[in-house]
Amino acid sequence: MDNHFDVVVVGGGPAGYAAALYGAAAGLNIALIEKGKLGGTCLHVGCIPAKELLETAAVYRTIGHAAQFGITAAEPAIDFSVTQARKQKVIDTLTSGLTGLLKHRKVTVFSGVGSVFSAGEKKSVTVTGDDGQVEVTGDHLVLAAGSVPRTIPGFDVDGTTIMTSDEFLSISSVPARAAVIGGGAIGIEFASTMADLGTKVTVLEYAPDIIPGVDADAAKIVQRSLKKRGVDIRTGVMVSGHTSGASGVEVQFGDGETVEVDVVVLAIGRRPFPDMLDLGAVGIEADERGFVPVDEACKTSIPGVYAVGDLVATPQLAHIGFAEGMVAIRSILGEDPQPVNYDAVPWCIYCHPEVAFAGHTEESAIEAGFDVVTSSHKFAGNGRAMIVGETDGLVKVIAEKNADGSAGRMLGVHMVGPWVTEQLGQGYMAINWEATVDEVAAFIQPHPTMSELFGETVMALTGRGLHG
Ligand code: FAD
Repeated sequence: MDNHFDVVVVGGGPAGYAAALYGAAAGLNIALIEKGKLGGTCLHVGCIPAKELLETAAVYRTIGHAAQFGITAAEPAIDFSVTQARKQKVIDTLTSGLTGLLKHRKVTVFSGVGSVFSAGEKKSVTVTGDDGQVEVTGDHLVLAAGSVPRTIPGFDVDGTTIMTSDEFLSISSVPARAAVIGGGAIGIEFASTMADLGTKVTVLEYAPDIIPGVDADAAKIVQRSLKKRGVDIRTGVMVSGHTSGASGVEVQFGDGETVEVDVVVLAIGRRPFPDMLDLGAVGIEADERGFVPVDEACKTSIPGVYAVGDLVATPQLAHIGFAEGMVAIRSILGEDPQPVNYDAVPWCIYCHPEVAFAGHTEESAIEAGFDVVTSSHKFAGNGRAMIVGETDGLVKVIAEKNADGSAGRMLGVHMVGPWVTEQLGQGYMAINWEATVDEVAAFIQPHPTMSELFGETVMALTGRGLHG
């Protein structure tokens, strides 16, 4: 077998498989090396299983409210083995789809750990798998080794009482009491899932607010909803330790406070995982946090070697991995790609109510020196939201203030409420297209839809709202 390729990709998560699929679509001969399962964190222990469990929670919640629609249903009960089997079926279907797609595009997949041993004119990677070692060479190398969950010293992950996201997503039953350490996107998605399924949840967050980076008005709505569903949110507290006893685990935090739970979920972020790439051997130095330094075209310090996805210090999101994988390939093809605009990427958090945003928050726009005007409209007045029975939330648009006081270019779109992760698209496009409120307000929104609220919010900024 000829083991020389145009491009060798190490890591088969979203960033690596995007580079492989996109490169193969452009006619490049690609090798993809994966030590675990194709699809990486996102498909097996990240986006997909997390959203699957959130959907279970949504079904449970909906049945709980069925009486509002005149439908009599028994008190919902959960068989978590069915929940987990359904989750696994979705994962398995997507994994076999991805495997088939790679095969169809003639990407050669090597199973095993890839370690780089030369990065001169010809790049060489040793693949150590169950059947021994093979050498794979390429003209270009794309590093996409991803990330792993961070842990806290003293909290030894045992998978039953102390767990990271990796273990939480495969729990066999819904815990009665849980502490989620970390109030970022992942922690809040887990808190929301468990709260809807009946767990007494405590969120312990070191920062002054949960979901940092989210516009303060939107974050407040999520916080209020979680509290209404019984979640105890403790911000500005440091977790200091834990003690296991017969009745559960006591977590110590703050100024001598404690909470007793059955399960502790560590959701304090993820660290890059260059550990098995052996990058030092070829002169690539990770930074002090473990990220591989790259330029805006995802190039490392070694010509022909690229790094993408969670391995580099950009937003740790699957779709950023997709975008960077494509940037690396276009750079290899000599196409001088447009770099990713990291200030205006789409962010989605799938807790209940959902959060979606792109661009500046009101606060960050002001900090960046913009004179701003804002408009917010609540889902409480939106017909479709009322029909669905989910009126908690709002759309907020931040625009640059023109010299005459009117609203000009759109700087940020923030949404919290029903299905907003599916509604962000046009806001994201407007921000990245650098559209003005007048331009966007001219477009028609279908009626009755939740997306009318976005149209209404933008229209209000033109000075002539319709319903708001
Ligand atoms: P990974 O997905 O981590 O893949 C890296 C791959 O490289 C792995 O398969 C690993 O086995 C392999 N590998 C590592 N080293 C080697 C080596 N030396 N040799 C061979 N193979 C190697 N993002 C979103 O955009 N939306 C979401 O809703 C979302 N939800 C999330 C929920 C949770 C609970 C978690 C944990 C993450 C979530 N993320 C979400 C983040 C998303 O999963 C990551 O940003 C994404 O998976 C990163 O892709 P990647 O390809 O860079 O790395």
